[in-house]
Amino acid sequence: MNDNVPRPPSRQPDLIVLRDAADSAPPLVDSFQRRITYLRLSVTDRCDLRCSYCMPERMTFLPKKDVLSLEELYDLATGFIARGVTKIRITGGEPLVRRDIIDLFTALGRRLGHDLAELTLTTNGTQLAAHADALARAGVRRVNVSLDTLDRAKFAQLTRRDSLPQVLEGIAAAKAAGLKVKLNAVALKGVNADELPDLIAWGHSHGHDVTLIEVMPLGDVEEERLDQYLPLDAVEAALAQRWTLNPLAFSTGGPARYVEVAETGGRLGLITPHTNNFCSGCNRLRVTATGQLYPCLGGGERVDLRAALRSDAPEANLAAALDEALRIKPEKHHFRMDTRGADPALARHMSMTGG
Ligand code: SAM
Ligand code: SF4
Repeated sequence: MNDNVPRPPSRQPDLIVLRDAADSAPPLVDSFQRRITYLRLSVTDRCDLRCSYCMPERMTFLPKKDVLSLEELYDLATGFIARGVTKIRITGGEPLVRRDIIDLFTALGRRLGHDLAELTLTTNGTQLAAHADALARAGVRRVNVSLDTLDRAKFAQLTRRDSLPQVLEGIAAAKAAGLKVKLNAVALKGVNADELPDLIAWGHSHGHDVTLIEVMPLGDVEEERLDQYLPLDAVEAALAQRWTLNPLAFSTGGPARYVEVAETGGRLGLITPHTNNFCSGCNRLRVTATGQLYPCLGGGERVDLRAALRSDAPEANLAAALDEALRIKPEKHHFRMDTRGADPALARHMSMTGG
């Protein structure tokens, strides 16, 4: 069997063993009593864009030999499901640039309605037009698409690639395929600050929720982070001058706080690691494409799941590695955004963990 192809149905008995184990496997609860039900699984650190807040133009990617095969990614996901993870988000890098990635969606999608409640992805949208139908067929119902600007020249400058038309085509294809699209925009001082109301209005007019994100100091990106940072409390105050923002109790189980924009009738999410810490409700773990588990996006703590997966006793060692991750998951992130010229809070880029 091709090493890159997830286990076909003929090998399903292995899954049954793991599912039996799930009946007795303890749920994932960390030392602060937070129950982990959500896995963000990066399938590649590579990308066809170079967003200036995410990575430098000349990015060094991980050696391909270190990256888990699709089959290993599937097995890893199975280990998490066995411990009570019910939602998996596939991310990257750009997940849709990975060859045969739809095979992984298809394999995981077979578990929807059984031991998996939701399978979703975060994408930059450039390849979405080609994959939207296949994703829908695999059981994906919601997709997050990153879109920071609707201005083609600005998009080309920000992402260092002239791909806005493909992204818009991808968003339209996702909608046509029946996927619920949420747009994610990183709020960037001097780049899209003035455009955010138009971006929100455009998203809402097309039926998409929009979420704004504060930039985080992950990895060296050639630019001064403080020059990029736009605090969302100020953005929200400015939006409130223009629109009526009604707080919503709605949650997707993530860190976003939601308001309804009365004038557009759409939902606006705000992810505010700096201006409003949300760590007490954290329900997630992140795994990189090389099988490194980072219990916190804002911390350096790490557990090597690839070593466990490739050991003589993968199930036992994976379970022990997950227990270790729970033990070391910190209470909260330690991002700071107050010193000009500061080194990145963490050397790794967001493209390793996928946000
Ligand atoms: N390539 C896909 C995409 O762009 O949607 C998935 C991976 S990307 C790393 C996931 C999310 O992280 C995107 O919404 C992106 O805008 C966001 N992101 C990247 N670097 C960031 C940073 N330094 N601070 C905050 N958000 C960041
Ligand atoms: Fe690529 Fe996503 Fe990073 Fe942009 S944010 S460079 S699309 S991984």
